[in-house]
Amino acid sequence: MTETTGNAGIAGATAPGGGKREYDVVVIGAGFAGLVAARELAHAGRSVLVLEARDRVGGRTWTDRRMGHDLELGGTWVHWVQPHTWAEMTRYGREIVRSPKAEEAYWLGAGGAPRTGDLDAFMAVIDEGQQLLVDDVREVMPRGVAPLDGGIAGLDGLSIQDRFDALGLDEEARAANESVWVGHVNAPLDQVGISSAYRWVAATGGHWQLMHEASATYRVVGGMSAWTAAIAADVPAEIRLGTTVTAVTQDASGCVVETADGERIRAARVVSTLPINAISGIRFTPELPEVWRRAAAETVASQGTKVWIKVRGEIPRFFAYGTQQHPISVLKSEYPGVDDDGTPHTILVGFGPDHTRIDVEDLAQVQAAVDAVRPGLEVVEVTAHDWMKDPLSGNTWMTHRPGQLTRDLSELQEPAGRVHFATTDNANLWGGFIDGAIESALREARRIAAAG
Ligand SMILES: Cc1cc2nc3c(=O)[nH]c(=O)nc-3n(C[C@H](O)[C@H](O)[C@H](O)COP(=O)(O)OP(=O)(O)OC[C@H]3O[C@@H](n4cnc5c(N)ncnc54)[C@H](O)[C@@H]3O)c2cc1C
Repeated sequence: MTETTGNAGIAGATAPGGGKREYDVVVIGAGFAGLVAARELAHAGRSVLVLEARDRVGGRTWTDRRMGHDLELGGTWVHWVQPHTWAEMTRYGREIVRSPKAEEAYWLGAGGAPRTGDLDAFMAVIDEGQQLLVDDVREVMPRGVAPLDGGIAGLDGLSIQDRFDALGLDEEARAANESVWVGHVNAPLDQVGISSAYRWVAATGGHWQLMHEASATYRVVGGMSAWTAAIAADVPAEIRLGTTVTAVTQDASGCVVETADGERIRAARVVSTLPINAISGIRFTPELPEVWRRAAAETVASQGTKVWIKVRGEIPRFFAYGTQQHPISVLKSEYPGVDDDGTPHTILVGFGPDHTRIDVEDLAQVQAAVDAVRPGLEVVEVTAHDWMKDPLSGNTWMTHRPGQLTRDLSELQEPAGRVHFATTDNANLWGGFIDGAIESALREARRIAAAG
């Protein structure tokens, strides 16, 4: 399918069918990174074409009407401590609304014993462990905008699990603390570098509570898709949907971008916004730098899932934490609602560290996963998008494996000749978040504009 959004293209030779075949820049992907890069370059007077494989813009953010609600299947929460995100929020007049504050908390203590309480009780259980995990953040990563400065290189081989193992927390506190971090990083803790914990807390000035709030509290009113549509409408260039790029070839005079439809488009430069886990979908000639090939072969650490679950009845607002062994390790109530026949329901959002552990088609399996963390609910419907299985993302929100940050980040930010890389995966501040996608787009647009 080929569909076009955005405004008219600028200069370029006309191809059969009315499209243009020569551009200053071809941007691959219309997620946050692609849209912002295209906008900046077009506003700077470059002729730009955006090629997007999906039939929508937004990439890993996607608001879809399901279960009678506008559900965010991908990225959701934003915060004013995310500077690039907040600038775009202001620019497009977006507002925030708080996700429901929990009245009840459920977690698992020593030996998996169920515990209940309120938000304050849970926060008291995790406070010491959350603080100790990154207590030395001021020395290890003194500036969130420069994640390689400070002492991180000496610690980057450690996983979050390694650090928890060394803290000496009692079993009660350890279980609760681990469950919080497995929710944050969307993967088993032995596979995620301690760098992710430092980065997130460094980005919030060393305050773990603020980091906690920033990562999962405020939604965008009207949904992510309305926001990315507003950005797309502000891109004075063609955004071609349903167009998968299969190859990029560069020589001394420029680049040729090939699409799955067999079209060949020339551009002086290309911006790839593909995530590390998806970049192997394009054949690059000459081949990608070693750092990209190695990172793509290793994959980043995140490997989890986000599921929306409808349960019967209007229930008190709650959050529940399981362990990293559970298919669903974090569960929260998001929306109360009423079916067409007047039956009340509640929509929950759940996260698990391994997408292969949960089959959203299997209601009994999801019921068992819910029972393990929040007993007493009746599951009636489940929906999700498996971002890990989706070849256009291959990932949810990026977190690094041990060692990847300090080994790869600087090199991943470098252009390869005429090919530039703008993706949240190579951002400095909020790498893995929407903010990082925007940061990376601004960086590469500035570089290209400066290159003349
Ligand atoms: C379940 C989930 C929850 C998340 N929660 C949050 C959150 O609460 N807050 C937050 O800040 N972030 C969150 N994130 C992360 C956030 O969504 C991403 O960091 C951000 O959207 C990435 O933007 P991007 O432009 O770098 O990449 P993407 O959005 O992945 O954009 C890349 C684009 O390239 C396209 N593409 C890929 N291959 C090709 C090809 N061969 N040809 C043409 N086009 C191609 C893709 O279709 C895509 O549109 C979440 C992500 C997920 C999946």
